[in-house]
Amino acid sequence: MRCPWCGADDDRVVDSRPADGGSAIRRRRQCAACSRRYSTYERIEDVGLVVRKRDDSRDPFRREKVTAGILKATKNRPVSEFQVEELVDRMEERLRRKGPEVTSEQVGLEVLQQLRKLDEVAYIRFASVYKDFQEITDFERELGTLLKRVPAKRRQRKPKA
Ligand SMILES: [Zn+2]
Repeated sequence: MRCPWCGADDDRVVDSRPADGGSAIRRRRQCAACSRRYSTYERIEDVGLVVRKRDDSRDPFRREKVTAGILKATKNRPVSEFQVEELVDRMEERLRRKGPEVTSEQVGLEVLQQLRKLDEVAYIRFASVYKDFQEITDFERELGTLLKRVPAKRRQRKPKA
């Protein structure tokens, strides 16, 4: 580690202790050239969830983005923002268990699965907005099952999803 005082690259660690409640280690170092002391912190690199898209590019999982999509789908539906937050919590937790990398299909299916339990209209809206998911056979099977359960009268008022 380069000394911040004299620039020499020769130090020894004189003390190590946990910092930030155990999420970091603070090392007290002494420069061999000028004898001055400084500290370094060692932390675990941010273990972000990564989403692999259909074109193979990768993006960090963005909670706000998913939340915005769900809020749009639940607009004018009897679903509170709190319920949406809870839904996103649940799906994020499930995705993290599959992580560190998940596909955009996995994210989509997870949203659909959670959304279906919450509100079926929002579920269909979400599905039709995210046209990516329409190509997935799993999803089509899911949607087929759902449409059978929704009474025909209600189905007619809905645009084709
Ligand atoms: Zn120094």
